[in-house]
Amino acid sequence: MKTAGVDGLLVTHLPDVRYLCGFTGSNAALMLAGGRAVLFTDGRYTVQAKVEVVGTRVVIAKKPAVTAACEWIVQEEIKRCGFDAGQTTVAALESMRKAVPAKLRRSLFVPVEPLVPKLRQIKDAEEIAKIRAAATLGCCLFNEMLEYLRPGLTEREVAATLEHAARMAGAEAMSFETIVASGERSALPHGRASNEKLPRQGFVTLDFGVILDGYMSDMTRTVHLGKAHPEERDVYDAVLEAQQAAVSVVAPGVTAGEVDEAARSVLRRLNLDRWFTHSTGHGVGLEIHEGPRLAAKQTQVLEPGMVITIEPGVYMPGRFGLRIEDMVLVTAKGHEILTPSVKAWIEL
Ligand code: ZN
Ligand code: ZN
Repeated sequence: MKTAGVDGLLVTHLPDVRYLCGFTGSNAALMLAGGRAVLFTDGRYTVQAKVEVVGTRVVIAKKPAVTAACEWIVQEEIKRCGFDAGQTTVAALESMRKAVPAKLRRSLFVPVEPLVPKLRQIKDAEEIAKIRAAATLGCCLFNEMLEYLRPGLTEREVAATLEHAARMAGAEAMSFETIVASGERSALPHGRASNEKLPRQGFVTLDFGVILDGYMSDMTRTVHLGKAHPEERDVYDAVLEAQQAAVSVVAPGVTAGEVDEAARSVLRRLNLDRWFTHSTGHGVGLEIHEGPRLAAKQTQVLEPGMVITIEPGVYMPGRFGLRIEDMVLVTAKGHEILTPSVKAWIEL
């Protein structure tokens, strides 16, 4: 906050609020100023806030939480209050300004770079344990799916079965809408489960994640139903090689761009890079997509405690596609794969 030139920070992005004080309710504004933390929420959360919130004063407001926070800012005579521009709508900023006296409207609120998300990129031991548990559950679910996948099931049946098993195993929810993309649809990088039936011969890509104690997992495996065409096998081996090349360079001091390039260069050598149409990976934690972003030319340096995905893919429209994705923890000496499910060729 000192570097950003602010003497207060208004935090309204709910994962940031949760990260800082433990509160998981859906209405919250957290103010940080002069070593103090005050959480504003409403009467629905009186009991929950008491149970969850740590090291923070709780104010149950009878008005919108942000409005109550703004009045506190004025009362405490904060001069420059930072807010995360990326998480604040034009309408929200408007109502923040309306909640303070006219003479303060111009100078009081200062957009700052995302300070809390920057902290959240580095996971502590407790967070890593939670992420590890979610990733391990993801691997167990994938193994169960190997017994179940067969031609004729619809993609939606597959997603429903996977999600039911996840909830029965204790998952709070899925991290995102489960991706099941089979046959020609496997060429859609984000093919949501449809009513199409799994083919007798062709790829099935499963990309899914579970939430345990707020922390998310994210993994992708692609299996083949029936006997594969030699080209399908070649492309699979190429993506696997690219994925493993990128994982193997993950270590503190390496840039996000270098990890991306490790995957991309393998596919370039095999003339497949034009079909790799997205970035190599992303951070995961309380949100499914957080920093760092692993994409071409990204200069951000990896640090111990970051949890990232490595997920190259090749997608040939109208034909087939596939992706392989692991979660990887950056450790002091290198890295650890948190999703050790088999990645070798699987034909069912
Ligand atoms: Zn994924
Ligand atoms: Zn991912």
